[in-house]
Amino acid sequence: MIELIKRLRREHTLAPDEFRTLLTGCTPKMLEDICGEAREVAQESFGNRIYIRGLIEIGNGCRNDCYYCGIRRSNRLVKRYRLDNDTVLECCRKGYALGFRTFVLQGGEESEAADEAMAELIKRIREEFADAAITLSLGEKPAESYERFFRAGANRYLLRHETHNPEHYRTLHPQSMSLAHRLRCLDDLKRIGFQTGTGIMVGSPGQTVNHLIEDILFIEKFRPEMIGIGPFIPHCDTPFAASPPGSLEQTLLMLSIFRLMHPHALIPSTTALATLSPKGRERGILAGANVVMPNLSPAEERSKYALYNNKASMGAESAEGLRQLNRQLKSIGYEVDYGRGDHPSRTKRTL
Ligand code: SAH
Repeated sequence: MIELIKRLRREHTLAPDEFRTLLTGCTPKMLEDICGEAREVAQESFGNRIYIRGLIEIGNGCRNDCYYCGIRRSNRLVKRYRLDNDTVLECCRKGYALGFRTFVLQGGEESEAADEAMAELIKRIREEFADAAITLSLGEKPAESYERFFRAGANRYLLRHETHNPEHYRTLHPQSMSLAHRLRCLDDLKRIGFQTGTGIMVGSPGQTVNHLIEDILFIEKFRPEMIGIGPFIPHCDTPFAASPPGSLEQTLLMLSIFRLMHPHALIPSTTALATLSPKGRERGILAGANVVMPNLSPAEERSKYALYNNKASMGAESAEGLRQLNRQLKSIGYEVDYGRGDHPSRTKRTL
């Protein structure tokens, strides 16, 4: 086993059956070993520094109906909200003053009618904060919308593929959605010039080891700049309310595998991981993650952006908690990096 891990570190890939061995035969000791190797690789790329991204949840209105997601269209119990552009800019100002140099605008999927206001918002952020990166996480859009957002000044886009197996994809989403369309969006984003992020939920309902291997191989081929890996966590008002959450260990294992395969990728220790386990945030970093995304949304709205139950958004999860986050990082030998934190292959890129 340790031989496989060392080879994965050296060659950044394994045969599918070898990934299967890693994913099915992982003892606690082996998890510790692979996390240790992944941590060393992350440190070779980034030192002991962790990038921070200010997450602004701009609205929870959504036209999609993903079965796992708490803000899906069919959930009538959600109180819908949309921050206006001035409020989002206020969040950016607050974040900028705290030292954030990346803003992540995330939200439910809006119709194209909202593109104009979105492009205007991006333009205003770009003008006011010339040295900050703008990341979007707004779901599937026509290529023209992505292009418009890119031209307005956005730099990065997060769109998890969720699963690379078409049948599994269909069990997680309504008929109107397809893996093929999701993959087309990812290709569009890349072609347009976004630093692109993709990824999966570990332990999503119906996920098998074979699916995880397919995800690993897809990400190997796609080479995203960012890789988002978090555990699935059920939301009580969705069709998957009774499904068990993904496991901490499996999430950490996947995280370390991705780190060993992609030494320079930006990999967050996700909020879902911090929600699943009290030391989840730290464990993610110790498994090779190098990014955290504290919440910059207005405190009053945070509870309405519930993708899953008990989502952490306070304390070290919040922007106000930067000091606490710093303390947590220090306790495991890391510190906050206030830089923009582009992917190393893209640092010379200007708009
Ligand atoms: N609407 C946008 C952004 C919000 S969802 C989009 O679809 O991309 C962002 C991510 O949250 C999703 O890609 C999904 O992987 C994750 N997510 C949604 N519901 C979740 C749940 N119940 N547990 C864990 N992660 C979830």
